[in-house]
Amino acid sequence: MVSCNDAEDARTWAGLSGDALAKLMVRANAVRRAHWGDTITYSRKVFAPLTTMCRDTCGYCTFVKHPDEPGAFIMTPEQVLASARRGEETGCKELLFSLGEKPEQRYEKAALALGKLGYTSMIDYLAAMCALVLDETSLLPHVNAGTLSDDEIAKLKPVSASMGMMLETVSNRLMQPGMPHHACPDKTPKARLRTLETAGRNKVPFTTGLLIGIGETWDERIEALEAINAVHQRHGHIQEVIVQNFQAKPGIAMAHHPEPSLEDMLRTLAAARLILDPSIGLQAPPNLSVRHADYLAAGINDWGGISPVTIDFINPGHPWPQLDALAEATARAGCQLQERLTVYPGYLCDAGYVPPQMLGRAQGMARGDGLAAAQALEQDGVAA
Ligand code: SF4
Repeated sequence: MVSCNDAEDARTWAGLSGDALAKLMVRANAVRRAHWGDTITYSRKVFAPLTTMCRDTCGYCTFVKHPDEPGAFIMTPEQVLASARRGEETGCKELLFSLGEKPEQRYEKAALALGKLGYTSMIDYLAAMCALVLDETSLLPHVNAGTLSDDEIAKLKPVSASMGMMLETVSNRLMQPGMPHHACPDKTPKARLRTLETAGRNKVPFTTGLLIGIGETWDERIEALEAINAVHQRHGHIQEVIVQNFQAKPGIAMAHHPEPSLEDMLRTLAAARLILDPSIGLQAPPNLSVRHADYLAAGINDWGGISPVTIDFINPGHPWPQLDALAEATARAGCQLQERLTVYPGYLCDAGYVPPQMLGRAQGMARGDGLAAAQALEQDGVAA
């Protein structure tokens, strides 16, 4: 079990390697096994990048497009539905909306494009598109809309099964000139921590996480994990934490910034598993490293969203692993790959977390233990 001193000890784990890191991973993996057994989950989903425009300009982002650039768009309702239909046809149960933050508040062109669709607020448009997906398809919407207020959550909660926002970091230093979050109003740690709190007060099953290797210190990483755990202790709503490793890509401000090493990733995953409440799922993206076995040995219990339809719009250079290859890698580690829903099982029995209009749909997709029921459809060698 987790030692109450782990969070304190974790500050001494910076740079841990070799046998000492291996021992830490064994401890983390034991926590994972005690709470989650040998089932490693993933969510079969289709991604809808509702808009590539954003009022922020994070130094590591390849997703964002200035309104004057090619590739700047807002998906139309027809495009959203077309993506959703392709997801349905390939056995997805979730449609994940990802989008830049409030571009209409910074760029006239974004506001005009939104106006043509009949909206003045991207959050209002997002809520309408979630409702469309609910009305027209069998999918469960999940939204990654960045920082959210009580009013915005009130609009989105009735039409989305779950929500997410990466905390990324609690480092205020990264807001300084020359740092990745400079002039990004939605990346102030205060605003993001407030969103975690707001989501908790409003009983939203919530996904968050860390982006590592963007200039934060080890202590700042530990502080971020502690902050996530603290908000979960207050509200109980954090269903999973993602540890994502920074990837250098051509064309971004941080194109030449060093990427975190595999050891750095493993010690962060192990620290996360030992600091976070064991009930919080721990996820590392499978398309960002081929080191599946190592990630499993560091204590993860989830591979996150995998799409049979769409690319990873956030990391377009990193294709999703085929499900059968991921199932084999998981099996080699002595575990079984199992599909889950966007809502983790613990929240499925609570109408306070999942709105009544979605609870029946979600429960209908689940088997007895709350994970996804098998469908007749079989693709990629894995029962969907
Ligand atoms: S807030 Fe998100 S979409 Fe906007 S620039 Fe930053 S990482 Fe990209």
